[in-house]
Amino acid sequence: MSGGYVDLRSDTVTRPGPDMLAAMLRVGGGGGVGVGDDVYGEDPAVNALQERVAAMLGHDAGLFTPTGTMANQLGLRLHAGPGTEILAESAAHILRAELGAAALLSAITTRTWTGPRGLVEPELVAELIAPPASPYLVSTSAIAVENTHNFGGGTVQPIERLRRLRALADEYNLTMHLDGARLWNAHIATGVPLGEYGALFDTVSVCFSKGLGAPVGSMLVGRTEAIAEARVWRKRWGGGMRQVGVLAAAAEYALDHHLADLAVDHAHAALLAEAIAAAVPGVVNQDHVETNIVMLDVRPLGMTAGEFADAAKADGVLVSVMGSHTARLVTHRDADRAGIERALAVLLPLLGASR
Ligand SMILES: *Cc1c(COP(=O)(O)O)cnc(C)c1O
Repeated sequence: MSGGYVDLRSDTVTRPGPDMLAAMLRVGGGGGVGVGDDVYGEDPAVNALQERVAAMLGHDAGLFTPTGTMANQLGLRLHAGPGTEILAESAAHILRAELGAAALLSAITTRTWTGPRGLVEPELVAELIAPPASPYLVSTSAIAVENTHNFGGGTVQPIERLRRLRALADEYNLTMHLDGARLWNAHIATGVPLGEYGALFDTVSVCFSKGLGAPVGSMLVGRTEAIAEARVWRKRWGGGMRQVGVLAAAAEYALDHHLADLAVDHAHAALLAEAIAAAVPGVVNQDHVETNIVMLDVRPLGMTAGEFADAAKADGVLVSVMGSHTARLVTHRDADRAGIERALAVLLPLLGASR
């Protein structure tokens, strides 16, 4: 909660609690494993985290990065040479929220399919794939998938569709990248093992700084040689870090203590959706709330999402504006049950209902 607000703008607003901060201090101080220069590969906590997360996702190696954007862009850089293309869903984070980085940093172009709520649509992808070796047409190098899909509303990609997509990629000799910033949420929502998701992709990015509650940090995992190459590009892009074991310790703590708690965030999102759906028809589709994100269509209220967000803020609740009439609520570990109740006490009257 920031400044007395119930902050439901994003799960990135979570702050490290005393126990996480203590774990960070333990690594840095005496008695812990100590820190070292990670550009030399000498930070024990970073090395341990990289090994642990790679193993969780069924991969050989991992690379700690400052942001999810860097992890994704390193992944894309490995998959596609300059002047080739990546296929992705039209509302993918890599396309809409990474500021053209794939074009700028790697000279990669993109073509898109549009799936309802960001879903993978293997049949649409099949139509987009362009075989290599034409002097006239851009060659497809890889397919990128987002799970859960952020702008889609926390959508979980069904494992069966991912399997079909993998088969398609294999048929055309394409590689696959998973933007798994919230793969943790997909895993907790479905029970599908992280390794089962991970094994379907050549590279996977994950974030510790969202629902898991670490202050910073993401990771790219993949095959040993691919990660070695990513390490070179990370340094080239200015992302080589030194004694960052203190940050790895936060991520390590989050995996130990916060992963299972994502189920609470999901229950809170379902509670928000249920109460809003019961009070005002047409604003939220409960069936579409699969994880910790609740998308609201405020059109029935006769106001824009911006007006809705301003009114909510005036009453102490922060929400995100995602489109002219689309607002987003994201639940997270710093908004407890009381915070969710408080949010409902503000939002329901705004939505024209009383509680
Ligand atoms: C947050 C997020 C990222 C990474 O964002 P950073 O702010 O760069 O850490 C990547 N993909 C998705 C889907 C995200 O939600």
